[in-house]
Amino acid sequence: MATTCSAKKNIQGHPCFGGNHHKNGRMHLAVAPRCNIKCGYCSRRHDCANESRPGVTSRLLTPLEAIAKVREVMASEIMGPIIKVIGIAGPGDPLANEETFETFRLVGEEFPHLIKCMSTNGLLLPEKIDLLNELGLHSLTVTLNALDAQVGGRIYSHINYHGQKYTGAEAARILIANQLQGLKKAAEFGMTIKVNTVLIPGVNDAEVPAIAEKVKELGAFVMNVMPLIPQADFAGVTPPSPEMLESVRTANERIIGQFKHCRQCRADAVGLIGQDMQFAKASCSGN
Ligand code: SF4
Ligand code: SF4
Ligand code: SF4
Repeated sequence: MATTCSAKKNIQGHPCFGGNHHKNGRMHLAVAPRCNIKCGYCSRRHDCANESRPGVTSRLLTPLEAIAKVREVMASEIMGPIIKVIGIAGPGDPLANEETFETFRLVGEEFPHLIKCMSTNGLLLPEKIDLLNELGLHSLTVTLNALDAQVGGRIYSHINYHGQKYTGAEAARILIANQLQGLKKAAEFGMTIKVNTVLIPGVNDAEVPAIAEKVKELGAFVMNVMPLIPQADFAGVTPPSPEMLESVRTANERIIGQFKHCRQCRADAVGLIGQDMQFAKASCSGN
């Protein structure tokens, strides 16, 4: 299954951006345990729900363990030729962990041909984007669930920003401003950008078209509307039906390419999207 993105950017076979994901795989390195915000749908007992499938927790790796794992996977006859992308997506927020930068540095030195990819809540994006560019980050995913701070205040209970805790709409205002500013800078650097939006019925569904318009204008390539997995603060919310999800994505498609095959992989997934490749104790457990 391909995405429906129509934009033409250099995706270099990246499976999450419309590259052939039957042939090209990605390897996630779970080097980022800490997070600097609290999303209402996150229980923090599992991987970051922004990009990773809840229900299983990754085994954390140090940067040196991570590069050793990359070596092992790239030396494998089966997996070596498949892996095209190294992604850091959790289990917390990559930008809240110095290990992320060290890991990308190590990967870039030893495996310069691998695409570097990262997923973030975006809080620290404006201040880290230059470093990410220097490290050769090719593709970036930002999870952006609201444009309106009042809506955001219902999704994020707090953020920790530069040593201070902010709550409610004030927290959301800072987060949203940084997400948009960071996304714009990333686009100016030529990064390929995906925006994840967790669809929370009754909370942010009315905002989705405006999010699509805004992120397209700022330079995003594709959007991934993900269904809420009810847990934590949103345990009592009914998740979107498949029909609702489909209709939101179809309406969005007129604005920006839609990524529809996301399986919300684990932060330590290795291999082809949607296939169980039991390697190095990790797999894409999407289906
Ligand atoms: Fe959880 Fe990820 Fe949100 Fe942090 S950014 S609270 S790890 S879902
Ligand atoms: Fe990159 Fe996200 Fe795909 Fe991982 S899941 S390779 S971080 S786009
Ligand atoms: Fe990331 Fe998996 Fe979704 Fe691709 S399918 S975007 S690898 S979570």
